[in-house]
Amino acid sequence: MSDWFSVTEVGDGVTLIQEPHVHPFLRSNTWLVRGSRRSVLVDSGLGVVPLRAALPDLLGDPDLVVVLTHAHLDHMGGAHEFDEVWAHPAEPWDQPGRGSLRGPALARVLGGDLDLPASLLEAPPSPAYRPDDYVLHPVRPTRALHDGDLLDLGDRTLEVLHLPGHSPGSIALHDRDRGTLWTGDVLYDDEVLLDGLTGSDPDDYGRSLRRLAALPAGAVDTVHAGHEPSFDGDRMRVLLDHHLAR
Ligand SMILES: [Zn+2]
Repeated sequence: MSDWFSVTEVGDGVTLIQEPHVHPFLRSNTWLVRGSRRSVLVDSGLGVVPLRAALPDLLGDPDLVVVLTHAHLDHMGGAHEFDEVWAHPAEPWDQPGRGSLRGPALARVLGGDLDLPASLLEAPPSPAYRPDDYVLHPVRPTRALHDGDLLDLGDRTLEVLHLPGHSPGSIALHDRDRGTLWTGDVLYDDEVLLDGLTGSDPDDYGRSLRRLAALPAGAVDTVHAGHEPSFDGDRMRVLLDHHLAR
């Protein structure tokens, strides 16, 4: 299906890629961040349809680097298509758990008290596609990212923040000069999935949120999250307060 992915330019060298036919539970945000020397793809979608082949003009650059925020299927599914994959080593990249587009099976994989629909696709990518055709491919990261690492894209630099809680190796990327933060599933504009989720840790999550809350005023103007629409620094404070009060 040629329209499996939607592509939205959001300005400042950033492009949002989404899969509108995926159920909202697994409908994640993939971000292309262009630098003068190198571009980075933050996450890689669900992997139902080959991502790179579908968007050759956008993602054909052989030097493109995929940076994964964490090892959940809706973020790492397309990463196996790329040569360079950078990620935090605390995630089970080579054994990410069996992915499934069947709700009950996925609930067993993820853990937690999840009430998911029979199929997590709202429309198949082709008439013959069945949800059971889905395979979550493991990846072997080519570079281990750690807290404080600086990713030099040329005219922009992304700092790695290790923010465990939703998962042990969750990271965010902070462009300090522009005040832009990519948060993956550490923070998005909804209730973040945590309780009972395999690999999650509420204490770690609280520490990670407090770390974001302690960023100096003005450090974050825009948050591009792993799900839901982007938001500004004021909304980030509201969401942090809300989650920390839980
Ligand atoms: Zn996740």
